[in-house]
This record gives sequence, structure tokens and C-alpha cells, in this order.
Amino acid sequence: MNKKTLRDVDLKGKRVIMRVDFNVPVKDGVIKDDTRIRGALPSIRYVLEQGGKLILMSHMGRPDEKGITPDTSMKIVADYLSGILGKKIVFVADCAQADAEVAAMKDGDIVMLENTRYHKEEQAKRKQKDGESEADFKAAKAALKEEQKKLAEKLASYGDIYCNDAFGTAHRAHASTAVITKYIGVSVAGFLMEKEIAYLGNAVENPVRPFVAILGGAKVSDKLAVVNNLLNKVDAWVIGGGMAYNYIKARGRNVGKSLCEDDQLDYAREMIEKAKKQNVQFLLPVDNMAADAFSNDAATQVVGQDIPENWMGLDIGPETIKLYGDAIKTAKTVVWNGPMGCFEMDKFSKGTFGVAAAVADVKANGGISIIGGGDSVAAVNKSGLADKMSHISTGGGASLEYLEGKELPGVAALSDK
Ligand code: AMP
Repeated sequence: MNKKTLRDVDLKGKRVIMRVDFNVPVKDGVIKDDTRIRGALPSIRYVLEQGGKLILMSHMGRPDEKGITPDTSMKIVADYLSGILGKKIVFVADCAQADAEVAAMKDGDIVMLENTRYHKEEQAKRKQKDGESEADFKAAKAALKEEQKKLAEKLASYGDIYCNDAFGTAHRAHASTAVITKYIGVSVAGFLMEKEIAYLGNAVENPVRPFVAILGGAKVSDKLAVVNNLLNKVDAWVIGGGMAYNYIKARGRNVGKSLCEDDQLDYAREMIEKAKKQNVQFLLPVDNMAADAFSNDAATQVVGQDIPENWMGLDIGPETIKLYGDAIKTAKTVVWNGPMGCFEMDKFSKGTFGVAAAVADVKANGGISIIGGGDSVAAVNKSGLADKMSHISTGGGASLEYLEGKELPGVAALSDK
């Protein structure tokens, strides 16, 4: 990576303002999954060991819509992290009013700021209101952007060094993820960010071949750009989940009531043609687990490439699991985003778990497997094979945008080496 990291700066006695991704699921005052907190520990511990003063900030949930509730307050994370580190953390109830707490810090101290998205200017997102003129909308948006700069400047004033370790929001140009870098001397990547970019970057730019990409899930249009960008880089594509039915229909097959975005069919056809021209294997399901309803209690049948009318494909079928498994196992680099079926329902989880087992073999055979965030992570966790993967990305949206070939604003804004 050509960006500075924590290792490139002297931290002794310095105030380090660190953007982390502590957007953890909280329900009734309990953190349901602490993966993201643990993901930031190497950077946190390093700053403390080097004698820095650490100011942590993150967003969690959507507080700007409802105001801060106990389930969207960083207070719960501050207490939790304090327990893990065995160290006091000073909590500041407004991220833009931490002057006194920061001024009182000694080397090795930690301050945690309240949810950055409590301030709407953190994201500076604004939709045009009904009846609002174009000119008024533009003026309001520009004013919000000005406020965003002020918030970024305020946050920057707490630190001598900015560290971004929040890969999960690196695809957003928010006050705390990108704009802040304009107001602070040096901006560096944290270790989690560095690791994410190293894995994804190597996979895309410099893959050990054969390179197989596996794409599934339900958000078809979100992932089309990934197919387009990676098509000239991969040796094989493996397509499953709701995604697959767009390609199956584009090939003139019946998809019944399966998930399908009809306005994307031309694009799907284009991709199939492109793959053919470039000699890229483009694997689509040869059989499917079809259901008569979107339910674990539905009647099911294994069908071939055509889904009968009034039925829907909710998982890849047994022959496809074998076909995909054989293609995946030969890979030396695998990137996987999106489950092969509705794995949340037991009846439709075999495809995803079968593919997870094949992906686990890749690492066992000396290859590299990267799970691209979001639901694939939940699926891999559920399969019990998480520790058999080389890298599980913490950022679904960010990893997808990276795979689409887009520049991530949170990374682009960091200081060059
Ligand atoms: P995504 O966020 O795009 O990765 O989509 C993940 C979701 O896709 C999961 O909740 C799955 O249940 C769902 N999914 C996977 N396969 C299908 C399918 N064949 N039909 C409908 N939903 C699916």
C-alpha cells in the first residue's frame, strides 16, 4: 500500500484521533457481535504501547433519524472496550465538544467520542424535499457541506495524527472518514485497514492463479459492476443466489417467481458474451432447489435450469454444489461475496455451506480465500468454517466498491508514503 500506516509515525506523546468501525449490533443494551471491536484492537493497543493519547470515534446505527438512544450510543462500546483493555475510557457525550477531556489527557489515556452520526453533517446527506426548488435544494446541500467541513475541522483539532482503521466506512467521504484529513498534519491507515487493502488489493491486482470469484446474494444490480470490473481479471466466475436467475433468464430460461431484476437482463447478456470472448469460465447453476413459497416450510423440489411457473429458486441444487466445489477447490485465489441461497433457512442452506467447505479447502491447499463482508460473513460463521478462511472482510459495502475498481475516499485521503 502506498499510504502511510501507524508504523510510519512517531506516536510518543502524540494525540491520535482514530476513526474505527464500532458499528456493532446492539439490542436491549447488549452488544450482539463484537467482531468489529476486536478487529480494531491491534491498532488501539499499538498506539497505547507507543505512548500515544488515543481519541476514538465511530458511528453506530442511525442516530440522526431518531436521536441517540441507549442502543445507538457509543457509551456501551466505551464500557465494553474498557473491560477488554482493563483500562478507564473517558466518554464524551457529544463528539464535537471534547476540548476539555482531550486537553486533560496524559500519554496512554483513551477518550471515546459519542456517535459521530448524531451530527447530520457527518454524512451531509440530503434528499430533495417535496416541492423544494432545485436552487433551494442546492443551497441547502452546500450549507450542509460547509457544516461538514466545520465538524471535520473540530474533530481534527483533537489530534496531531489522524488514523483511519474503519474499513467498513472507507467507501464514504464523511467528516470523520475523509474530510478530516484536510485539517490535520498527517493521516495514516490503521492495521485493520492495511490488512483489508493488502488482501483485497493483492487478490485484484496480483492474484495467484487460478483466480475464482464467487458471487451470490440478492442485491443483483449492486453487484453488476463487480462482475464487469473483475471479468478481465478472473479465470472463472461462479454465480449463485438470487443473482443467478438474472443470468439464467438472460440465457432464455424460465425462472418462475425467482428473484430477477428484468431491467438488468441486457447487462447480464453482455456479461455472458464478454466472458465468452475473454475465455473466462462463467458457471451458472445446472440445477436448483425450488420452493413453492419463500419459507422454510415450503414444498421443495430439485429442478434443472428451468424453474417451473409459480416456483422460485432459493438455493443451488446438489449437482451445482458439486460442480462449483470442483471449480473452487482448484483455485489459488478466491473472492466470495454473497450466499448461494437463502442460507438463513435450513432447507436452503446446503448450497452456501457446500461452497463454504470448498472455499475452506482453498486455504487448506495453500491458496488464499477472501470473504467479502456482509451476509457471506454471517454464512461462513454459521457454517463453522470461519477460521478456515484466509481473510474475512469487515466491510461489505467497502469491499464491494473496492472489487468494482472504485477508489475508496477513506483510503485515498490518507497521506502518501
Ligand atoms: P446480499 O446482501 O446481496 O449478499 O444478499 C444476501 C441475501 O440474499 C441473503 O439474505 C439471502 O437469503 C438472499 N438470497 C440468497 N439467494 C437467494 C435467492 N435465490 N432468492 C432470494 N434471496 C436469496
